[in-house]
Amino acid sequence: MYKGKNYFLVLLMVFAVGSVLAQNPIIKDKFTADPAPLVYNDTLFLYTSHDTASVEATNYQMPDWLVYSTTDMLNWTNHGVCLSPKTFSWATGDAYASQCVFRNGKFYWFVSTFHKKNENSKGGAAIGVAVSDRPTGPYTDAIGKALIVNEMTTDKKHGWDDIDPTVFVDDDGKAYVFWGNGSCKWARLKENMIELEDSIHTFNPKNFIEGPWVYKRNNLYYLIYASEGTKPEMIEYCTAESPEGPWTYQGIITGNAPNSFTIHPGIIDYKDKTYFFYHNGSLPTGGSYRRSICVDYMYYNPDGTIKKVEQTTAGVKPIGN
Ligand code: CA
Repeated sequence: MYKGKNYFLVLLMVFAVGSVLAQNPIIKDKFTADPAPLVYNDTLFLYTSHDTASVEATNYQMPDWLVYSTTDMLNWTNHGVCLSPKTFSWATGDAYASQCVFRNGKFYWFVSTFHKKNENSKGGAAIGVAVSDRPTGPYTDAIGKALIVNEMTTDKKHGWDDIDPTVFVDDDGKAYVFWGNGSCKWARLKENMIELEDSIHTFNPKNFIEGPWVYKRNNLYYLIYASEGTKPEMIEYCTAESPEGPWTYQGIITGNAPNSFTIHPGIIDYKDKTYFFYHNGSLPTGGSYRRSICVDYMYYNPDGTIKKVEQTTAGVKPIGN
């Protein structure tokens, strides 16, 4: 009896320590994907896709976009559904990957979804922009129509090649949007963030599939993306001395995500550390259509190249402990 009690206590302790150590996935109350972190003031906001497909499903069901926030990388506040394709009168279908950026006192949330058949598009994937004065909304359609429709790029014949926007504002005020499935497309944005400055360019980074994430660090520009890998996807990257390229292939950042066909990068510096967000299918009943966002540390070499990111179940340490 006494022995049994001790055994139970030890089990409890192992369980308690284990649950503290096993941070990943960081979002456990819903199935989430396509992490897009944004630091505003002292808070890290995480914009996410939302998987609601059933366990038996063989395709995505992604009704809306969610926002979470943290100040310590341990406790995540769920702000719920902050945007859905219903906000865009021209949109229909799933809520694919997105990224929110802050400029001129407003939050611009660039999203990929699908276009109704009308005079502006025959349908297919499209990119829209929502705007708000607050990071968690309420958001409204910033343009009243899509920023990018399928017909604006023709290098790929499939109807979902215009997805996964990432937006970057350079120190000189020039803003860029990168996106694409099958090839990487980019264009300059006007300062108002809701119009293209000029033409769309297309290029093919090595092994590029989708999910670009673009940023600048120490005068070097980074283009991180989901890559062909060994199918399932991996994360690879290029660097350049200008956001307009040419881009130099640098290698693999991390391999396949457990139990998920896709993986998707979201990278940000917060309180003196660099965080690499991604998704996998590791929650109970999870999978390729029921994904979960994770975070691990990312480290740079002195020459600016990125060390291989280890995907862990422990995740990152709480800030302040
Ligand atoms: Ca297209």
